[in-house]
Amino acid sequence: MECTNSYIKGCGNSPTVVGCNWGRGQRIVLYMSGVRDGALLAAHEFGHDWFDHSRQRCSGWSSPEHVMGQATCQ
Ligand SMILES: [Zn+2]
Repeated sequence: MECTNSYIKGCGNSPTVVGCNWGRGQRIVLYMSGVRDGALLAAHEFGHDWFDHSRQRCSGWSSPEHVMGQATCQ
């Protein structure tokens, strides 16, 4: 796992993101200072080892589906 100090480019369809998981855990990069809740970002990106995004629009801690919400929203 790697951390970076800037927004991540070249991840899926989004031009810039705060975290990316390539190949279901082959490479994970986190932009921890780009979010308010770094632990949630880490949980979300590690979650992509097994899960795609849920139908939740934003991520949060209330359920596994919530952790895998589509955006950080903060
Ligand atoms: Zn995600």
